[in-house]
Amino acid sequence: MPKFLDALAGFAVTFGSMFKKPITEEYPEKPGRVARRYHGRHQLNRYADGLEKCIGCELCAWACPADAIYVEGADNTDAERYSPGERYGRVYQINYLRCIGCGLCIEACPTRALTMTNDYEMADDNRADLIYGKDKLLAPLEPGMHQPPHPMAPGSTDEDYYLGNITRQSSAHRRDSDDAPHVTDNNGAAHVTDNNGVAHVTDNNGVAHVRSTNG
Ligand code: SF4
Ligand code: SF4
Repeated sequence: MPKFLDALAGFAVTFGSMFKKPITEEYPEKPGRVARRYHGRHQLNRYADGLEKCIGCELCAWACPADAIYVEGADNTDAERYSPGERYGRVYQINYLRCIGCGLCIEACPTRALTMTNDYEMADDNRADLIYGKDKLLAPLEPGMHQPPHPMAPGSTDEDYYLGNITRQSSAHRRDSDDAPHVTDNNGAAHVTDNNGVAHVTDNNGVAHVRSTNG
């Protein structure tokens, strides 16, 4: 092709761009939108009553190709429960100096405890502040959730949590003035555990049942 045609083709690109809408983004005053599935900061999710979904299994840490995740699990007890079932994540850290945002960790998580948000503003000027712990990663408490530790919903098992039977739509959770948790289950029955650990249930016919800590 003659050289002057190359030059014309080059000018055509410049000329065409002159009439396009500018795409300058005014960051950081007006941060641009990212794709809905953008891999941003991680989040440790909760169940509808506030219990943590993380069971401290470390599968996310083993899946991470950058060795960016550190997990230490611990046992739940009846007196101190942070998640349904046996274990919870006592220590959970993600090192964002190492993380490459690949998302393999969230694929590995068996309880969907770990997901990624669209938040990408994580720059900092020192190493310590880029290692995020549970204080930064745990999802905030939403209305109807309570800060763990607290018992599982009365009458429920860990399986009910894993199967999604504890939902905000179907379960009304609140604490009374004595700080006792109240739950309405999927059948509309009201469950209350008082501060002495005695379980109270009112069934759908309005009949009251009481079960002591000895069953
Ligand atoms: S997104 Fe990838 S690199 Fe980052 S913590 Fe998860 S597995 Fe590791
Ligand atoms: S975030 Fe998921 S995979 Fe990682 S320790 Fe917790 S439950 Fe296991």
